[in-house]
Amino acid sequence: MLNPVRVNDRLFGDVGAAVLSEAGEVFTGVAVDTAGWGLCAERSALAAMITAGQYRIAKVVAVWKDEKTGKLHVLPPCGICREFMRSIDEANLAALVITGRDRSVSLSELLPLHEWPAAEPGEGE
Ligand SMILES: [Zn+2]
Repeated sequence: MLNPVRVNDRLFGDVGAAVLSEAGEVFTGVAVDTAGWGLCAERSALAAMITAGQYRIAKVVAVWKDEKTGKLHVLPPCGICREFMRSIDEANLAALVITGRDRSVSLSELLPLHEWPAAEPGEGE
């Protein structure tokens, strides 16, 4: 995986992500932080998975390395990445998201109100 580099005063690759697809393949990606539009490491890894024709996630993790201490920190996915994972395949709501050294939760737990409510009878008429 890319070591963090500074490009135009922005950091590329300081966060890395790995996605284990339901088919058992691992895809990796890095964060690309630009002034106009950034890409999270998770979506970068998911783009690699989609490029390989796969859409279902078994597990996903993102880590950031503190260059000062050398420690790795597990990062939970941002809201855009959570919704992106759900959007590429609804079955991904059951995917495990690693949120710490010994912790993981399902994507549905990170998107507790992901379902659109059914319209009440009489509404919108
Ligand atoms: Zn994100």
